Amino acid sequence: IDSKEYIKQHVRTVPDWPQAGIQFRDITPLLQDPKVFRALIDIFLARYANANLNYVAGLDARGFILGSVIAYELNLGFVPIRKKGKLPFHTISEEYDLEYGSATVEVHTDACKQGDRVLLVDDLIATGGTMLAGKKLLERLGAEVIEAAVIVDLPELGGSKLIEQSGLKVFTVCD
Ligand code: IMP
Repeated sequence: IDSKEYIKQHVRTVPDWPQAGIQFRDITPLLQDPKVFRALIDIFLARYANANLNYVAGLDARGFILGSVIAYELNLGFVPIRKKGKLPFHTISEEYDLEYGSATVEVHTDACKQGDRVLLVDDLIATGGTMLAGKKLLERLGAEVIEAAVIVDLPELGGSKLIEQSGLKVFTVCD
């Protein structure tokens, strides 16, 4: 059994959560097993070890778990992109549409600067709105987002396609 298959088997699908009709992909079994967690992080480390990055940016909240470990291991700084109202210093924000309503993500204005090479990390891409908002924030600070890295993509929702159409490459562990 290869490590990608092993990782895939540790993503649990929870039906009807957080609401009826949603099949929620839950990565907590993957985090819980130290061998699988390490196998997952090692895939990202191998891919980005020589990417000449300045920062790893993680999307609130599961992107923090993955992104901070990747940043630590690659000797890079970590940039949190947070949901509205959580960051204490000067921020810029991006609002994006959800199925019902909208959401806003924010980053500190000094989180990165012109020319920084940044990897953007989250657990999952659904419609792609969160990842695209994160990309916009980093680009407004002058950074270059070199790739969007996730564990799971839900291709039927079209998010990864939209992200690639915006010029950002997507890397998925479980495809
Ligand atoms: P998107 O903006 O529609 O692509 O949704 C992706 C964001 O919502 C990510 O931050 C995910 O963590 C979260 N998300 C959406 N659906 C799921 C799911 O099934 N499992 C885990 N996270 C999800």
